Amino acid sequence: MNSRPEQTVVVLGSVNMDLVTTTDRRPEPGETVLGSGFATVPGGKGANQAIAAARSGATVRFLGAVGDDAFGATLRSTLTESGVDTGLLRTVDGPSGVATIVVDATGENNIIVVAGANGRVTDLTGDELAAIATADILLCQLEIPLDTVSAAARHARASGTVVALNPSPVQPLPAELWADVDLAIVNSLEAERYAAELRDVPQVVRTLGGAGAVYHAPDGTELAVPGRRVDVVDTTGAGDAFTGALVAAWAAGPHTAVNWANTAGAVATTRLGASSSIPDRTTIERALARD
Ligand code: ADP
Repeated sequence: MNSRPEQTVVVLGSVNMDLVTTTDRRPEPGETVLGSGFATVPGGKGANQAIAAARSGATVRFLGAVGDDAFGATLRSTLTESGVDTGLLRTVDGPSGVATIVVDATGENNIIVVAGANGRVTDLTGDELAAIATADILLCQLEIPLDTVSAAARHARASGTVVALNPSPVQPLPAELWADVDLAIVNSLEAERYAAELRDVPQVVRTLGGAGAVYHAPDGTELAVPGRRVDVVDTTGAGDAFTGALVAAWAAGPHTAVNWANTAGAVATTRLGASSSIPDRTTIERALARD
């Protein structure tokens, strides 16, 4: 892409530590088994998307909360090292958000998510509201309290900041929130579950996995961007890489932005992990130059 993503993006969302245990076989209730590996991996849709937007070249500020535990400090520095401004990221008493993940030899998993500090983002401070009002785009997901997402969207709309929503994980949403959304980014499952609500959202970008993505314009026209052929290693985090890259490039126009995001998502599938698999701008530019 020739245009340079220089959007100012505020991401209001979750940040988690994923605790990933690998085992041949998952234990039955009451049983203890010996696992084969363990890793702590920074995650949370908010943090992943913020990192993706920053790596795409946007100026990104993250709003949310970590706990006062060791994970909180690590999560904060992971964001900072990826170029995300964490000046307004809160540290609250208690644990950071964690996802405890057990993966067996067949790839089947069990996951328990504890919201921790993410659940404590129940209001917005004056500084946070000011950051939203002065940004080009506000990007939210649904891993922090819904009332806070709605309040942020309302404030953004009133301030002329574009409201982008990735409505994930799927849950019932108030009509007032939908009314403030300018751009929804949904995968196939979300597109199906929110089909009725999405009809009134001016701009929708629907991701289709290996088949790419479709942009639905306010005038009802559609633009399909085909999937890129890549050697897929792990699709975890592809959606977050796509969404962050999309908002970073949004000022370049939807066609360019969807193409850019589609490339970011595709590259992310060629690498293991979520936040660790998110490509930077140079990598995306190189992939596009090969077209
Ligand atoms: P989610 O991960 O949220 O379910 P998708 O599976 O639709 O979302 O993937 C998001 C984006 O990642 C796609 O639009 C595409 O750009 C990229 N992507 C995902 N899977 C593949 C794949 N197999 N080959 C190429 N690109 C992919």
